[in-house]
Amino acid sequence: ILRRQAISGPDLQLNRLRVASDSMMTEYNPNYEFGGNAISIKDLKEIPREQLRLVKALGQGAFGEVYQGFFRHRIGDAVEMPVAVKTLPELSSTQAETDFLMEALIMSKFNHPNIVHFIGVCFDKHPRFIVIELLAGGDLKTFLRESRPKPDRASPLTMKDLLICIVDVAKGCKYMEENRFIHRDIAARNCLLTTKGPGRVVKIADFGMARDIYRADYYRKGGKAMLPIKWMPPEAFLDGIFTTKTDVWSFGVLMWEVMSLGYMPYTGCANREVMSLVTSGGRLEPPTNCPPQLYAIMTQCWHPNPEERPSFSLILERLGYCMQDPDVIRAPLPVYAKPPSSERDT
Ligand code: ADP
Repeated sequence: ILRRQAISGPDLQLNRLRVASDSMMTEYNPNYEFGGNAISIKDLKEIPREQLRLVKALGQGAFGEVYQGFFRHRIGDAVEMPVAVKTLPELSSTQAETDFLMEALIMSKFNHPNIVHFIGVCFDKHPRFIVIELLAGGDLKTFLRESRPKPDRASPLTMKDLLICIVDVAKGCKYMEENRFIHRDIAARNCLLTTKGPGRVVKIADFGMARDIYRADYYRKGGKAMLPIKWMPPEAFLDGIFTTKTDVWSFGVLMWEVMSLGYMPYTGCANREVMSLVTSGGRLEPPTNCPPQLYAIMTQCWHPNPEERPSFSLILERLGYCMQDPDVIRAPLPVYAKPPSSERDT
């Protein structure tokens, strides 16, 4: 459970052990709870920097650059393991330091094949590092868009490939559901692939939204402009109610993203239009060629009453039937009336 009551506002201030030191790691010691256990910085596996080798930049993250690198389990080991290293620049605010630590705490407690694997941290000095498994295939949304059929080339993917991606994410979500962890931002952009090629595994890899609710100023920061409205159910954007059923709704939107090969949901609609559409019962249309069995699961995820939405365990059962159904597996992939470039990303 995300116990934001336990560590937000004045309580967060109390939680901060102020020590005369310039190290954030002794100055700020936020607690985090997962599966009924409290965790803090001292539970994080510290990796000696000498065992890491950064190779190239992968992209810009919320804090700093993310690098591809190699990790040696012991100095002198011949084998190196490919890793991704999230960095926190030296000149970061105290808030960024705390957020970065919270992200490490969150990732460190997961243990599931469809959630990015945490390896360790280098928090002894600057720049601080979070070391995680390398997911070399990039994010799911970009992968889907790159896999669209072109005039001179059919899509390299089959319906079965798409279903496997969906099932991978559902398995990660089921694990979070079992551990009462609410993700709050399930979307194709937040899932990464081990590889683009066959045998790819999709993993949930971004926990930014779950991390941010631990901020003392969460409710003052950004407001609705920061929220992934198009992936949120009405009770979340209207009343701020977040449960596992929030993630179930978002998962339905992710299914729609996958089945449309990376279309922007509610293309051309602004967030406020989507809020009024969805509140009055409007829903995303089935993507072109989407098997009705799969669209049926999406609409179940979008039930107006959160309690009527299926659990991830039930979603996986239904996806299992779809995997066995020749009518689903043999369905052609979506085709496009207009080129992707004319698609407005709003
Ligand atoms: P953000 O702060 O925007 O959520 P991240 O810090 O998660 O972004 O990641 C920034 C960039 O690094 C993205 O391009 C993402 O695809 C890449 N990245 C993040 N984690 C990994 C990983 N484990 N393996 C490979 N690339 C990653």
